[in-house]
Amino acid sequence: MTWDDEYDVVVAGSGAGAMAGAFAAASGGLRTAVLEKTDLLGGTSAYSGSAIWLPGTRVQARAGIGDSAESARTYLRALLGDGTAAHREAFLETAPELVDFLERDPAIEFEWRAFPDYFDAPGRLDMGRSFVPLDLPVERLGDLAGLVRPPVDRDRAGRGHSAKPMAQGRALIGRLLLALTATGNGTVRTGTALTGLVVEDGRVTGVRAVTADGPVRLRASRGVLLAAGGFESSAALRGERGVPGGAEWTMAPGGANTGDAIAAAVRIGAATGLLDQAWFCPGLLAPDGRPAFTLGFRGGLIVDGSGRRFANESLPYDQMGRRMAAAQGPFHLVFDARSGGLPAISVPPLVPDDQLASGAWVRADTLAELAARIGLPADALTATVERFNGFAEKGVDEDFHRGEDPYDRYFSGGGSCLAAVDRPPYYAAKVVLSDLGTKGGLRTDPDGRVLDGSGRPVPGLYAAGNTSASFTGPVYPGPGIPIATAMAFAYRAVQEIRRDHT
Ligand SMILES: Cc1cc2nc3c(=O)[nH]c(=O)nc-3n(C[C@H](O)[C@H](O)[C@H](O)COP(=O)(O)OP(=O)(O)OC[C@H]3O[C@@H](n4cnc5c(N)ncnc54)[C@H](O)[C@@H]3O)c2cc1C
Repeated sequence: MTWDDEYDVVVAGSGAGAMAGAFAAASGGLRTAVLEKTDLLGGTSAYSGSAIWLPGTRVQARAGIGDSAESARTYLRALLGDGTAAHREAFLETAPELVDFLERDPAIEFEWRAFPDYFDAPGRLDMGRSFVPLDLPVERLGDLAGLVRPPVDRDRAGRGHSAKPMAQGRALIGRLLLALTATGNGTVRTGTALTGLVVEDGRVTGVRAVTADGPVRLRASRGVLLAAGGFESSAALRGERGVPGGAEWTMAPGGANTGDAIAAAVRIGAATGLLDQAWFCPGLLAPDGRPAFTLGFRGGLIVDGSGRRFANESLPYDQMGRRMAAAQGPFHLVFDARSGGLPAISVPPLVPDDQLASGAWVRADTLAELAARIGLPADALTATVERFNGFAEKGVDEDFHRGEDPYDRYFSGGGSCLAAVDRPPYYAAKVVLSDLGTKGGLRTDPDGRVLDGSGRPVPGLYAAGNTSASFTGPVYPGPGIPIATAMAFAYRAVQEIRRDHT
């Protein structure tokens, strides 16, 4: 076998899991290459709010919020049962160790941020247990700053970073990049897309990839970690697997995550699971036809294709997305002048005038006129809004119990999120079923080893993040689970790679 370059570990993808795994490998003395298909590092992780749900660590202890692995176990067990107990226990065991490891590096620092857990279940923390990285001044990254994917609004508009400190997902990717490069053992290869795996004597020993200069073959003498996102941007795979929503409505960076790593592993016999699942969310359509991840509804109501409500709009976004998948669209958020703009948080932020000019939002002086403009029966919409306004007056949502859970009220500062819609002009915004990525993929053991159809590890092959099937199944337990699980299992995979040769 001839190789274009040789490494100990090759990591495909550059999201939070990939970068944490690459940093762990390189800091342990392994020559590590990160391969990124696009010209920018970070994928959806860079767009994210970077909430990280790693429970029972020094970060929660510093904040004095009374978190523990025990209460997180109680919570996860209540939501997920014991079907994936081995993964749950591995995750809980790794969380404090991973955070100790990361924060030992001067580039990495976290702080707890209030954000409620998503379910009313034993072990829940009403103000949450997730944490975020501290903002990162762009100057600290120097020339590397241009490699980090900008926030979603700037990225979609083809603009780079502003002069402000990098925040949220950019700070996380930037900090991991700083830590990785400081090891002296890490190489980042952008514009390099994994296309296949090289197997010698039953072991994965390297990868095939394409670059602008043509195909390359890269050796990975100790292991290959696949952390290249899901297949959310592949319309064909979504259709084949029945993932609700659409490739054009995912929040992932345009066209990046098309399931390449999953397909490469499947070609050499890897098993998959959970392929019809995603981390769902409502998305408000922006003028360019792309969605804006929308959460924290503190006013307005969402109606289906018949003009009726079908869920508690303030539900955690994945649960709302699942209600949308079960309902019949088209969906509209109806709100009024009372909120002085969108009564919710959207990422990217939406500019009302642009929304109206593009037709993604419509405005009318009466509900009947609004209904006509969005093609709904006027009597149905009016009756829905009148019933909703009655609930707002009583402060009790008799249909969907909106406002009864601490999560519902979190975004209205603890106050009511049931506000009457009765102050013209009225607005209707198009809402689609969006997602933050698919969550089905390669089956792995609790050490991140990819399994074959008989449940045996494929030697030399590991996976994490949305390339792997999430142990949370169809449940999104709390803010920061996607990134936390990606990082934890990438870290465990690297520990396994190190053990495998000692
Ligand atoms: C606005 C927003 C906010 C969010 N907030 C949070 C949050 O606060 N906390 C949280 O936990 N989750 C959050 N999420 C969800 C979370 O960001 C993603 O689910 C998670 O980051 C996915 O990580 P990943 O590593 O699997 O994929 P990604 O981060 O998307 O990384 C995959 C990378 O692999 C690259 N790639 C794809 N194919 C190849 C190939 N063939 N070869 C090489 N590279 C390849 C892609 O270009 C991409 O850069 C949010 C998502 C969005 C959109």
